[in-house]
Amino acid sequence: MDETQLAVPRPVSSAQRLTLVPTQPGTVHRTFADAAETRRSGPPWRRRERRMPAGLVHAAELVADRSLCGLPLDSLHEFGRSRYAFEHFEAHLRCSACHAAAGSPDS
Ligand SMILES: [Zn+2]
Repeated sequence: MDETQLAVPRPVSSAQRLTLVPTQPGTVHRTFADAAETRRSGPPWRRRERRMPAGLVHAAELVADRSLCGLPLDSLHEFGRSRYAFEHFEAHLRCSACHAAAGSPDS
């Protein structure tokens, strides 16, 4: 064995260490939006500021650095799936390329 085989692998970022899940129908996609806006919502006695998606909504694989339509995720705003699932947005709010790439999930 020579020295190169004993070399310790260089640290990789956590995203690269995660196991990739193959894409299949019903795959969970992360939700991203072109922009984020803050809106006050809820009943007056419990009103609070809430971060809302603005502009088109994009989808991305769980481990990816680009949305399904190819936009870098750094330029988009991520929203949690529990409240903002991509397939729950109305069709006209979704990016059509992401919608098609995600298998046109129904709302
Ligand atoms: Zn998109």
